[in-house]
Amino acid sequence: MTELSIEKLHNLLINGEISSEALIKEAIAKSYEVQKKCNAFVTIIENAKAVEVTDNLLSGIPYGIKDNYSTKGILSTGSSNTLKNYIPIFDATAVEQLKKAGAVAVNKTALDEFGMGGTGTTAHTGIIKNPWDLSRTCAGSSSGSAAAVAAGVYPYALGSDTGDSIRKPAAFCGIVGYKPTYGMISRYGLFPFASSLDTCGVLTRNVKDAAIVVDAMKKQDEKDLTSWASKDMHLYESINGEVKGKKLFYIKEIVDESNYPNISEELKKHLQIFKESLKKLEAQGVIIEEVSIDKELLKTIPSVYVCISCAEATSNMSNLTGIAFGPRGNGENIYEIMKNHRTVGFSPLIKRRFVIGSYILQKENQERYFVNAQRVRRLIVDRMKELFKKYDALILPVSKGVAPKLDELNDEINDESTVLLEEHLQIGNFGGFPSITIPNGMINKMPVGINITGNCFDDINVLNIAYALESQMNYKDMTAGDYRE
Ligand code: GLN
Repeated sequence: MTELSIEKLHNLLINGEISSEALIKEAIAKSYEVQKKCNAFVTIIENAKAVEVTDNLLSGIPYGIKDNYSTKGILSTGSSNTLKNYIPIFDATAVEQLKKAGAVAVNKTALDEFGMGGTGTTAHTGIIKNPWDLSRTCAGSSSGSAAAVAAGVYPYALGSDTGDSIRKPAAFCGIVGYKPTYGMISRYGLFPFASSLDTCGVLTRNVKDAAIVVDAMKKQDEKDLTSWASKDMHLYESINGEVKGKKLFYIKEIVDESNYPNISEELKKHLQIFKESLKKLEAQGVIIEEVSIDKELLKTIPSVYVCISCAEATSNMSNLTGIAFGPRGNGENIYEIMKNHRTVGFSPLIKRRFVIGSYILQKENQERYFVNAQRVRRLIVDRMKELFKKYDALILPVSKGVAPKLDELNDEINDESTVLLEEHLQIGNFGGFPSITIPNGMINKMPVGINITGNCFDDINVLNIAYALESQMNYKDMTAGDYRE
């Protein structure tokens, strides 16, 4: 049953055809199965309790929480050895909101350590595998959430997105990933990675479910001063699929085949699938235009992201010393104790990012790297805002192709297609823009995704376009192994 949508499960619960107890039991049993195959969880909440079913769409339905959300009385590690024994005394606001709605958390999902990474290979509990093909990555950092939702453990799991961490894993696992406008959901209790980019969000198997969950999570919160009042914005109720006359654009420099002289068969096929989807929207009266953006500007995206995210992460994570929380390090004095905790606790990838961040934040380097990165971020965001005056949204393929094989992963950003096709989702974080990925087809029996990004506060519009496209395709409510052409 847990492979059904929230809407369907709610109807079955309300009509008494299933019970919340049975659903939770099923989700826990499936968690153990998926854990064996995909290694998707840090904790399975064995004693999760059923709640009363109310008219709230989420009541009584199980879900998963990425392990970088603080959960009261439940281990919350951020998938890091530095917090391997940390049990918070409070819930993140997003989690508290879902509790109020009657949602029942059944597990904490594994991630790339503290959300830093895109492969699902740096969690302290080991590599997370893609349920479509266990030899492949789920991408990251919300890898465990994506694997679990795709495997049908429950209809949704929470994710967080600083660069693409909800939207890329969603694409590689054939599901929906929605990052709302920055500040719609309070970040209080989300372990901070890069505060100016971090966004809470959700992974689901259809667009309406994503709207339902974010409706419940969102709130203006005095504990997060970047959160804003969205109580009059009703995402789920506003989805009507009416898109006639909407104007979308795609970026020529990213999508045009002629940019890639040695194009692979896989990329060729992916770009072809993308263009077929544009036609499906055009058939519904959507106007789609090609827009040119300076390629040099687009190519700065990964460096701008690295400068800003590493600098903010280095500062945010300087509290991880093993003194206030986490296992105490060994040593003769406080400095040795803290040094030992960080040396032993962090994975090499994170340490590398802290070295970069510290370098960038050094007084003599700040102007050259940090401040300049902020300036280029501004140029990119300004260009997008200018385009959003004329267009309702940007539409692009999520990646070069399908999820890479785990043994072929490398984190080098060397060729043009990687720079242009694998990094552009970061634009959504630079501007705090609402952005959603939905499944867009299959290549060699693996899913690929398409992304829609709109202007700040224009979430309803973005969801509507995604919903209209989803309705024209055959990938709604898909689970891993359910091959569809
Ligand atoms: N893959 C990106 C990184 O490595 C994005 C991470 C994220 O969005 N949390 O930082």
